[in-house]
Amino acid sequence: MSDEIKINGKAIYTTKGAAKEYGRIGCNFYTGCPHNCAYCYLKRGAPSKQLGGTEVRLKKCLASEERALEIFCDEARRHIDALQRYGIFFSFTTDPMIPETRSLTFSALNFTMYNGIRAKVLTKDATFITYKRMVLNMKSNTAKELVEFGFTLTGRDDMEPNASCNHDRIEAMHQLHDNGFKIFASIEPVIDWQHARMVIDLSLDCCDHYKIGLRSGVRKDYYDLLSSGMNIRELTEEIVRAGRTVYLKESTRALLRRCFKEEECNRILGLTVDMDGNRIDNLKKEISA
Ligand code: SF4
Repeated sequence: MSDEIKINGKAIYTTKGAAKEYGRIGCNFYTGCPHNCAYCYLKRGAPSKQLGGTEVRLKKCLASEERALEIFCDEARRHIDALQRYGIFFSFTTDPMIPETRSLTFSALNFTMYNGIRAKVLTKDATFITYKRMVLNMKSNTAKELVEFGFTLTGRDDMEPNASCNHDRIEAMHQLHDNGFKIFASIEPVIDWQHARMVIDLSLDCCDHYKIGLRSGVRKDYYDLLSSGMNIRELTEEIVRAGRTVYLKESTRALLRRCFKEEECNRILGLTVDMDGNRIDNLKKEISA
């Protein structure tokens, strides 16, 4: 994205750092998330107060849900070219598909769909697929073309006490995929490779794209180098063999660089796509070899 494009609205903004690896433009209506994951970044460090912990609240600057939608539409209209080019990601400061947040998210999605803007929605809530507005969208070709649903999968229900269990998330992925939606999975954070492998294996037939990222704020030796290198390589190859795409987040790439020599790193990265989902040139070489 051109560096001149900076959006800093009340609802819509351009992302930075690791968040950018999910979407260059994000939308946050609420702060706080009830899933209470043991590894949650909303609970850690200085920003945790502003980010709300487990209590879901509409951002103060948005005043009310009606006003929040108006603000969203105004900001989106002002930056329509950038949004039509780069799409929009929901959300970084809450789960946008839980009962408390989904109505406003679907209202915003109506706007994005009507205006030809691609949207990505990331959740750990499998129950929204029976929500009446989702049921309506199941029949919409525009929704299938422009809205991509993502599910975070760690395989560790014990660390995500209030979220839908990983099994139910994968079941929801199946249903949406069978209905024609594009689906992605966020394998982040990898708590351990055994569980990451399990959820990837279970979702390969209903997931178009994977993002693999590591745990932050852990000891440098949290991930064993030998098994990490082997797992990153094997999982990347398995995903590509299944005809799916994979993006290794910068955290995973940094670990990969510690596991293998440059040539093998480049070969593995050549199998992956970049953060925008574009295939890396090396992949073409790999396939034609
Ligand atoms: S789903 Fe995400 S935002 Fe919500 S508690 Fe878990 S890690 Fe935090």
